Amino acid sequence: MIKGLHHVTATVDDARDDYNFYVNILGQRLIKETVNFDNENVYHFYYGNETGLPSTIFTTFPYRDQGVRKGVIGTGQVFETAFSATEGSISFWKKRLQDHRIEVKEEKRFERKILVFRDPSGLNLSIFEDANDLREPVWLTDGISADHAIRGVHHVTLAVESSVETIRFLEEFGYDQVQKDRHYTMLSVPGGGAGNSLAVMGSDKLPAGINGIGTVHHVAHRVASIEDSLKLKAWLEEQHGINVTDIKDRNYFRSIYFRIPGGVLFEVATEGPGFMADESREHLGSSLKLPEWQEPHRERIEANLKPYRFP
Ligand code: ZN
Repeated sequence: MIKGLHHVTATVDDARDDYNFYVNILGQRLIKETVNFDNENVYHFYYGNETGLPSTIFTTFPYRDQGVRKGVIGTGQVFETAFSATEGSISFWKKRLQDHRIEVKEEKRFERKILVFRDPSGLNLSIFEDANDLREPVWLTDGISADHAIRGVHHVTLAVESSVETIRFLEEFGYDQVQKDRHYTMLSVPGGGAGNSLAVMGSDKLPAGINGIGTVHHVAHRVASIEDSLKLKAWLEEQHGINVTDIKDRNYFRSIYFRIPGGVLFEVATEGPGFMADESREHLGSSLKLPEWQEPHRERIEANLKPYRFP
């Protein structure tokens, strides 16, 4: 039932720094501007490719000045989010990031080049070369050509204290082991690859992760329908004794949430209705969108949000 990744969601610091980094430096398109459905004083930004295709989506809650502590990246969390770019583009990204005074490190993982860096909130990010990623390149920004543009999230790396139990669960959940490299194991849905993969990193040296600013909150996987979400919920509860939330209406998808063995928070999100439910392709992300139940409070909500776009 699991078709691959849907999105990754992180708790970040300042809205302006966040928007500047993901749009102006990484070249992502802001495809939806809304607010945290549980805290109307906090934006919810969705970045993605031009159409907001599930698996290209990276979302942030900029929590500065909201009394949220800085988190600790560690076990039981998404440790790193890898974005996908074509083969040969690492040198371009290395120079671009360094020109913006961002520290980068080149590594080899799974026999491929990977460029490791951090976003302004301290999130671990990377760019992973994949010649087989056929998704449309992400919205083009000045100085980024289609050859080098990011194509979406490639995979996330889950950090767990001991990987055996987590990997066994993921295999039953729908991901198959495809490659091993030292303490990393790559898993993909059948036919998987970019946007449909997870890496598991076993580490007994990392601290336990603490949720907060500068950490990934959860990773979402996609399913075709609510019926599939309900079947998964029943399977998780009956076969694994895992507590699963009821279905939540996220306006652009419907979701359930639960923690997997190893502690990472997972979401299962439907592919529909999608980000064009309330905006045309051309206008995605161009104005504040609110769910129906918050619309009557638009004036108050807008007055409390600080502007974040600048030329
Ligand atoms: Zn989510």
